[in-house]
Amino acid sequence: MKKYILPAVIFAAFEAVAVTLWLTKHELFYLLNFSYIGGSIALAMLLYIRKYPHARRVAQLLVGLYMLVYLGLIKNENMQIEGFWFYLFNGVSEAAVIHYAVAKIFGPLLFGRGWCGYACWTAMVLDFLPWKVPANPRKKWDWIPYVTFTASLVFVAALFLSGLAKDELKNVMFWAFIIGNVLYYAVGILLAWALKDNRAFCKYVCPVTVFLKPMSYFSVMRVTCDKEKCVSCGKCKRVCPMDVDVTDNSRRRKNGTDCILCMECVKNCPKKAL
Ligand code: SF4
Ligand code: SF4
Ligand code: SF4
Repeated sequence: MKKYILPAVIFAAFEAVAVTLWLTKHELFYLLNFSYIGGSIALAMLLYIRKYPHARRVAQLLVGLYMLVYLGLIKNENMQIEGFWFYLFNGVSEAAVIHYAVAKIFGPLLFGRGWCGYACWTAMVLDFLPWKVPANPRKKWDWIPYVTFTASLVFVAALFLSGLAKDELKNVMFWAFIIGNVLYYAVGILLAWALKDNRAFCKYVCPVTVFLKPMSYFSVMRVTCDKEKCVSCGKCKRVCPMDVDVTDNSRRRKNGTDCILCMECVKNCPKKAL
């Protein structure tokens, strides 16, 4: 039974957010939304425990498609970083602001880059590509996400200064969501192909990492190495899609804030040291 504690804790954490938002905002949507997301992630964790090989992909598809198709396209909510700035500038703590607070700003203190491993709709598609293990050493392009982050902020600030009416702004944000996603997928697939690395977009372009990295540094949930069992075979580092040196237990380990908790290293360790 002990092995089921973690999915139960994750589900309970999402339920706490769901009920709190439902009661404070008086909207049933929040109860259903966060219960669905928490339930999907807990289900994937249960499947992983039961050794189902595609457990993580189940969560990615359940949550990613829900956010992209239902919230983004049907409910007309821009859930990308531009949507976050848009609501923030409006002083409205709804939709993208709550999503960012839970999944990308405060949530990572508990579950690190779990969003990137189990829920992101961009990675949901990129993870179908064939380059699951990076073919080349990591490039020193860590500055690019700061540029894309600044560009998204400047874009939304310029929209506000443009003097457009509220309805027109909403319309622009809807199209920004469509065009933004098409761009993300196009750049993501091209980069993955060029660098033979499915997660190249996550490493070198995604603006959201500017939030995710510093917060996940303090993550409660992290993969650690039992040095007594480890024989330094290096398999864990070879299979890691994010180039993390998972044998180093310090928080400063190489690319440590890029860990997406995909568990490939754990599954592949021959000594069960992780
Ligand atoms: S780094 Fe960005 S694109 Fe990659 S999984 Fe995380 S949020 Fe999605
Ligand atoms: S795969 Fe396991 S045994 Fe090999 S280096 Fe990694 S932790 Fe150690
Ligand atoms: S393989 Fe291990 S260290 Fe690498 S991202 Fe996945 S869980 Fe993290």
